[in-house]
Amino acid sequence: MQNISEIEELIKLISKLPGLGPKSAKRIVLKLINNRNELAKPLAKALAEVYKNISRCKICGTLKSNIIECSYNDCKIVEKKYDKICVVENLADQWTIQNSNIFQGYYHILGGTISSSSSNGSSKQDLLIESLLKRIKEEKIDEVILATSATVEGQTTAFYIQNSLKDTEIKISKLAQGLPIGGEIENLDDGTLISAFKNRKKI
Ligand SMILES: [Zn+2]
Repeated sequence: MQNISEIEELIKLISKLPGLGPKSAKRIVLKLINNRNELAKPLAKALAEVYKNISRCKICGTLKSNIIECSYNDCKIVEKKYDKICVVENLADQWTIQNSNIFQGYYHILGGTISSSSSNGSSKQDLLIESLLKRIKEEKIDEVILATSATVEGQTTAFYIQNSLKDTEIKISKLAQGLPIGGEIENLDDGTLISAFKNRKKI
C-alpha cells in the first residue's frame, strides 16, 4: 500500500486500541474504506457524538450523558439504600464486580491510580478522591471496600485513601490476598473475585 497520510494516521490510532496491533488495525481500516457508507460514515458520526456528549461524572466517576443527570451509581442520593461503598479504579472493574453479584452497595470510580513514578499513571488531583471522601461522609457509609488492583499503583492508591480516612470511625476493608500479584480486577474470574470479596480484610 502506498503511503497515504490519512490512512497511516488512522491505522496508527486504531492500533492503540486495546487488543489491537498494527496488523488488525490495517484490516479494520481497509474494511472501513471498503464500506464507506455502511461503516465509515456512521462510525465517524457515532465517535463525534460520544466525544461531544459523554463525559465522566465528577461525583461518582462513571460515564454519563451530558444531557441527563448522573444517577447510575446513586451519586445523588435521595434515599439511602446501602451502607457500603466499593472503590474501583475504572468502569470495567465495576462491571466485573457487578457481573459477579458479590456486592450490593454503591460504587465509586476513581478514574485510575496514583502513580508510583511521576512519568505514568495519574496524579492525586486527577482522581476522584475528594468526592469519595465527601460521598462517604454525606451518605453515612459504614464500610468502604477498597477494590483496587494488586499492583504497586493500586496498593499505593488504597493506602492513600485509607490514610485519608484514618480519623473517621468507618470500617475500611481491602480485598483478600487471594488476588494474584499484579492482578487487575477486570481480568479476574468470578471465583477469585468472589473469594477475595468474601475474605476481605479490615485494615
Ligand atoms: Zn455520578
